[in-house]
Amino acid sequence: MLDAIERRITTDPTAAGGVVDLTEIVRLADLDGGRPAHLLRLGLVIDALARHMSDGGVAVYPVAQRALLSDTDLTANERMVIRRWSDDGKVEVLRMGGPPAIQRIREVAALTGLPLLSRQPGGYPGLTYAPVPTANGPALSPQQLGPGPAAPAAALGRKWRCPEPGCASFGPPGAREPDPFGPQSDEPPGEPGSQPPPQLVNGVPQCPRHGAPLRDTGPVPRAVTVVIRVKGVAWHRLVVTEAAPVTVGRSPEEPGGVGIGLALDERGLRWVSRSHVRLELHGSALQVTDTSTNGTTVLLRTGPVESVRRAPLVRGEGTTLGEWDTVELYEGVELARADRAAGPIAGAPTNSVMADAPTQAIRLS
Ligand SMILES: [Zn+2]
Repeated sequence: MLDAIERRITTDPTAAGGVVDLTEIVRLADLDGGRPAHLLRLGLVIDALARHMSDGGVAVYPVAQRALLSDTDLTANERMVIRRWSDDGKVEVLRMGGPPAIQRIREVAALTGLPLLSRQPGGYPGLTYAPVPTANGPALSPQQLGPGPAAPAAALGRKWRCPEPGCASFGPPGAREPDPFGPQSDEPPGEPGSQPPPQLVNGVPQCPRHGAPLRDTGPVPRAVTVVIRVKGVAWHRLVVTEAAPVTVGRSPEEPGGVGIGLALDERGLRWVSRSHVRLELHGSALQVTDTSTNGTTVLLRTGPVESVRRAPLVRGEGTTLGEWDTVELYEGVELARADRAAGPIAGAPTNSVMADAPTQAIRLS
């Protein structure tokens, strides 16, 4: 069960769909009515996020106070597991005496644009959901849907190195666990998709684990994760970087292209072009260009539940996508930012990390 959770936690922003303070999450006892602190509550929140996004592959980015490693409300085994996750770079455990985790998760959310999953938004203006108990199990309740934070800081366009040997966040290449959801493109095998954002202290990038100023080792292309949804359900995740545009279509010939033929019915196969759209990232702006024969429509939305305005793309002309916009390739087949979704879709498979652990197991233990 903890293995299933382990596969869905990461400090790679391109694989994550939300940021959590693990110190807060383990104590949300009303989610299951069990003991004061329980590590499996992280699984309940991952499942709630997967349902909300209709994305069975989405992970969370957990941050924790160092004190959690000695919190005796957790079992010795749970503390050991969190320590191992931290050593593997899957949980960001903060240094003693630094800014608290509730502050760091707001920073990570602001820098990456990932939703904040917390009951303590503390005035954070960007997208925030609170994990709450419902009759159908834990769910995400929208707290703040306003405009996302401003464009990510310039610090994200640089590769950083921590002076601490073996740092799990900013170590030398190969120091972090390979991420199953990272980009498969040009990265050598075993390299993570994207570095965690540095902690900015008076504008100086620091390691959140060690408090040391980070060394700038050169530029790194920014990245954004896009999801292909079929009838609203996540079908495939792909990473677009500033260095590598991605073509999506029936079966694109471009290197790194993503083919969606398997998601199309017979009519769709005739409608969707071999190379239908090209996605490019410029700074933090995701741009889409129609390269198809039959055309592409952008569904413009100002928020997750706002009404939709349809705007056909002009062939060959790049258009910047808004935070909540989706690109329709064919009826029911849409591309969108992977960290934005209107809400759960009834009957969507969730790929639960708690499959082996009915909620009662938390109560009993
Ligand atoms: Zn470090």
